[in-house]
Amino acid sequence: MDSSTDGFFRGRRLRRSAAVRALAREADLSPAHLVLPLFITPGKGLRREVGSMPGVYQTSVDEAVRDAERAARLGLGGVILFGLPESKDAEGSGAWAADGPVQQAVRAIKDAAPELGVVTDVCLCEYTSHGQCGVVREGTVDNDRTLPLLARTAQSHAEAGADVIAPSDMMDGRVGAIRGTLDEGGWSDLPVLSYAVKYASAFYGPFRDAADNAPTSGDRRGYQMDPANVREAIREVVADIEEGADMVMVKPAVPYLDVIREVRAEVDVPVFGYQVSGEYAMAMAADARGWLDADAVLTEMLLSVRRAGADRVVSYYAARYAERVAAP
Ligand SMILES: [Zn+2]
Repeated sequence: MDSSTDGFFRGRRLRRSAAVRALAREADLSPAHLVLPLFITPGKGLRREVGSMPGVYQTSVDEAVRDAERAARLGLGGVILFGLPESKDAEGSGAWAADGPVQQAVRAIKDAAPELGVVTDVCLCEYTSHGQCGVVREGTVDNDRTLPLLARTAQSHAEAGADVIAPSDMMDGRVGAIRGTLDEGGWSDLPVLSYAVKYASAFYGPFRDAADNAPTSGDRRGYQMDPANVREAIREVVADIEEGADMVMVKPAVPYLDVIREVRAEVDVPVFGYQVSGEYAMAMAADARGWLDADAVLTEMLLSVRRAGADRVVSYYAARYAERVAAP
């Protein structure tokens, strides 16, 4: 029996007050769903704001520890670390230096905030003089020669005490190579979060300021995914899980909500979305001109990523969101 007397759907009943809306809400977004990226630079007492990303800093290890302690206090899901080495070379050997910025930061953060999840990004582009994500041979990135270097980098992060290893390079076979090296080294219980679906996106521009990893020539379309493809994303995810990935990432997030949804439907592992630098910078730039409210827009974007099916979202806005939730 229809309980209404007038015969039409009264959707407004569930929107009539904040209290009712809270009871009827489907997707949720709490600080624990968010992971904060940190950019680690050599030195001490350093905190340099990234020009194209207001509120995002390159910091030395001691300052990164303060940011990580704050992330822990705010109840964030974790932090993900990127490194800016002292010097770069053709191989990217700084990526696996035992005393590199990331390796030092992992140790210091795990000391200061042991309960905070520390994820390490594994790639070579921040460490190579040419800015590509692997070894370059005859003008192209050599997939198979890159694999052992990525595995070596992952091992150095494991030695430092990382909680999760996150390869972002998009070489084929790298999850298997990293998994094998970790297993042999005695870290068979250390999880891998694969950037399984990483598009060759124009939204990464500001990150290249933050991580200083713009390619000196060419682009990354030979290994990152074509923005037109979604079936291919599923092939990448399935391949990475078969190679041993425990969790998968889709990057960027908001322009690829359909991909997040498809991946969520296809596999049972935890799915991450990465709200990338360009998504953040657009909102902040529009806010600076008075055209949009960055807090409202970024929150709505993050909620959309959760609604699409991501379990966790990496976001430059993570700490600010958590602060607003704590004291709105
Ligand atoms: Zn890279």
